Amino acid sequence: MIHELQQIFHSITKSLEVLYVIEDIKPCARILVYEDDLNKVIDFLGKKRMHYSISDFKVIKQNIQSEFYSDKSIKVEKDDITKGYFFVYLSKKIETAESAKLMESKNSHKELGLILGYPECCCNFFEMNFNKQDTDLTLKILENSNGYKFLFYTNIAARHFDMSLLSHFPHSFECVPSIKNAQNNLKIIQKYSKELALMLSSLMQSTVIYTLNEGIFLLRKCEKVDDYFVYSDVLTTTKNKLYYLISSNKMLQINGKNNFIINDIKISGPQYGVMVFI
Ligand SMILES: [Zn+2]
Repeated sequence: MIHELQQIFHSITKSLEVLYVIEDIKPCARILVYEDDLNKVIDFLGKKRMHYSISDFKVIKQNIQSEFYSDKSIKVEKDDITKGYFFVYLSKKIETAESAKLMESKNSHKELGLILGYPECCCNFFEMNFNKQDTDLTLKILENSNGYKFLFYTNIAARHFDMSLLSHFPHSFECVPSIKNAQNNLKIIQKYSKELALMLSSLMQSTVIYTLNEGIFLLRKCEKVDDYFVYSDVLTTTKNKLYYLISSNKMLQINGKNNFIINDIKISGPQYGVMVFI
């Protein structure tokens, strides 16, 4: 099933979203579908007896930091000649899919989040913090969390590499309903593919360096040795100076959630976030 979904939706995270709705652990999913793929998706949903609603606008992705994920996009008319993506709201109930579309069109972020099954604490957090200038709330979530060590379930930074157990911004990396949500999702993935569940869990147990403008880095197999965090390979959204510094040293010291040292170079400030997901 997951393989079939991936052929239609081209991404693991999108395929999982659809799977959660099929499995009744999510009331409704909102996924971006490239306009040339729309007919294929509609065909698939029809076969699975799922209801859907399609946005009256489309979006064009901007500032793409990775091939899988972009937080920034601009809205255009649905007949705009530039090719773009439509939001498809899918659910087992037609009225749920329709109300998700309606809430999005009214910019009612909180109501939309609740329809999609996100925890209320996180819907409130999103409504309070999201705006056109601040579309990626990851560093804000870190600010809202205690320390820098968290359970891997809320590692939403991995979405940049098409891996995630959550489809919303948790209000904190310690948000209990979000952790429960992710654990339930993982159980469903395990039911269909033990390999994928293992791969996801292992990749999400990484140390993350999350920057505002210098990319996102996943430090794999990170272990604490004395005062240092020692890691193996590094996944990156961009190959720049910081990437080469991180990947050529394989060890760093963490002095706080916005403060780390690599090769005697101190990197700190609110634009740099460090998270250790275990
Ligand atoms: Zn929450």
